[in-house]
Amino acid sequence: MPDSPIPSVDFAALWADIGPQALEAVSRMGESGWYVLGTEVEQFERDLAAAHGVDHAVGVASGLDAIEIGLRAAGIGPGDEVLTTPLTAFATALAIARAGATPRFADVDEFGLLDLEAVERAIERHPAIRAVVPVHLYGHAVDGARLQQLADAHGVAILEDAAQAVLAQSAGRPVGADTIGAATSFYPTKNLGALGDGGALLTNRPEIAAAARELRDYGQRAKYEHVRLGLNSRLDELHAAILRTAVLPRLAAATDRRRAIAARYLAELRNEKLIVPGAPEDSASVWHLFPVFVVDGDERDAFQAYLREQQIGTAVHYPILASAQEAWDAPEPPSTYPVSDRLARTELSLPIHPYLSDEDLTRVIAACNAW
Ligand SMILES: *Cc1c(COP(=O)(O)O)cnc(C)c1O
Repeated sequence: MPDSPIPSVDFAALWADIGPQALEAVSRMGESGWYVLGTEVEQFERDLAAAHGVDHAVGVASGLDAIEIGLRAAGIGPGDEVLTTPLTAFATALAIARAGATPRFADVDEFGLLDLEAVERAIERHPAIRAVVPVHLYGHAVDGARLQQLADAHGVAILEDAAQAVLAQSAGRPVGADTIGAATSFYPTKNLGALGDGGALLTNRPEIAAAARELRDYGQRAKYEHVRLGLNSRLDELHAAILRTAVLPRLAAATDRRRAIAARYLAELRNEKLIVPGAPEDSASVWHLFPVFVVDGDERDAFQAYLREQQIGTAVHYPILASAQEAWDAPEPPSTYPVSDRLARTELSLPIHPYLSDEDLTRVIAACNAW
């Protein structure tokens, strides 16, 4: 009998779990007769802020917009340079450009996170760098104390990309708690996924939250009073309703499950052809993804095909560096960032989602060890 498929993300299992409560949320919202910026968004923002451990959450239309709005709320715009990682979703760098600023890149460390030594050198060399966007990639928290030090020593704004890292903490502090804030995404594959697009800015700074509320709604301070050139980037009542009562209440348990899966991978994966880095010190990771790195990058695609033959779904995060994308006027060759380049050529993400059973996990581990 052929093995049953083990998908890298399991939306069928998700719907089987949340379906009834999601439908109840849709009815509640439909019957309310209020579809944009109402009580569902307000209550969800409060619940999300409390769950993550910050004072404010501002719901927006996507993770991309949350980053742009966070930067603009901090006064970053045309003429400014913003430093980020090349090993990320293109949206991170695109949001910087959308804010009117110019993205600049620094290399990553062996975990795939911005190398903060390289960041400091870049800031010292380029005075136009006014902000840094670290990405909590794979659900690992970038060192928060070190980020604060950079902000204090150099006067740069830090806006964190937590699209993969709701609930992640660095040395016991929630990501985004001590900086401008953290932008997150409710894209369906994310840890806190909606049934469509959405995002939020998480922050402890009331003035940033207030600016973000204006920016998401045409720059309005009060109805028909426009004090900024804003966006239409409102989180729908529909998604807020579903997130609030069907998805967010499951997030803590889902995160525990991801951590338990990661712990088994870390304990049981044994193959000299694979590098399995684990989480950085001080990072309470939420394990949005479980990356392994193939020692010989030329074998990565063969490894993925081998797992596919056994019906095991995987993905690559990310095959092309954000700095090398054709969309820029002057794309940089991948070799400009040697560690990012190597990780992009060798990374493969194994299944890690809350609906992965122990038996399926055993099968994935056995397949990896037998390769
Ligand atoms: C998904 C993602 C984004 C973009 O979020 P969207 O909601 O899809 O716009 C940005 N940064 C990172 C690291 C992401 O994973």
